[in-house]
Amino acid sequence: NCKVITIDGPTASGKGTVAHRVAKHLGFQYLDSGALYRLTALSAINAQVALDDELSIAAMARVLPCHFNHGHVYLADKDVTDEVRAEQIGVAASRIAVLPQVRQALVDLQLSFRTGNGLVADGRDMGTVIFPDAVLKVFLTASAEARASRRYKQLKEKGIAANMEDLVKDLIERDARDSSRTTAPLKPAPDAYVLDTSAMTAEQAVQQVLDWYAQ
Ligand code: C5P
Repeated sequence: NCKVITIDGPTASGKGTVAHRVAKHLGFQYLDSGALYRLTALSAINAQVALDDELSIAAMARVLPCHFNHGHVYLADKDVTDEVRAEQIGVAASRIAVLPQVRQALVDLQLSFRTGNGLVADGRDMGTVIFPDAVLKVFLTASAEARASRRYKQLKEKGIAANMEDLVKDLIERDARDSSRTTAPLKPAPDAYVLDTSAMTAEQAVQQVLDWYAQ
């Protein structure tokens, strides 16, 4: 009876930060499902497999040699924490995420994070597909501009050059791909609370999720 809180939403909606902090506050496990799609994309790129080769990529996803430790992400024992966060890996992840067999291949790995007291799972389909029995489902949204400027700040902090126009364009393209795919399209679960974080700080969003959880 490991309780699950799902936090879904579009790219750069603040899901990662909010989910991570809620998990820490409650002493729950944390699943960053986007990282699994990113790791799968990185594996495919490293192996020079075409990003539409569904069978090969699903086979790689099924045995993805990844592990997570203290906020670091490893692929076959190599620390790829920064590499997987790169914008082009996000774009590649959203391309392989449309492939139904790849999504299916990652199901068991996602379910394996459900251990201990509880789990906070962040992604696109956590509440709709992977953990439909979650005790609390949250769908975070924010305007494309708010999301692009958050992404811009994050990249700048890491010393990565970025340009707002390209970021907005990327976000809109990625949203369109995530929302229009036939398998697990991005949409709130019918029983999800929708929270628009455009004008909220991360602390406020975390507090709102904790308040809902306490209800
Ligand atoms: O959340 P993040 O930006 O790291 O996810 C990268 C990509 O992986 C997303 O754009 C989306 O296409 C895909 N994804 C998904 N389902 C999830 C998590 C991520 O399709 N549960």
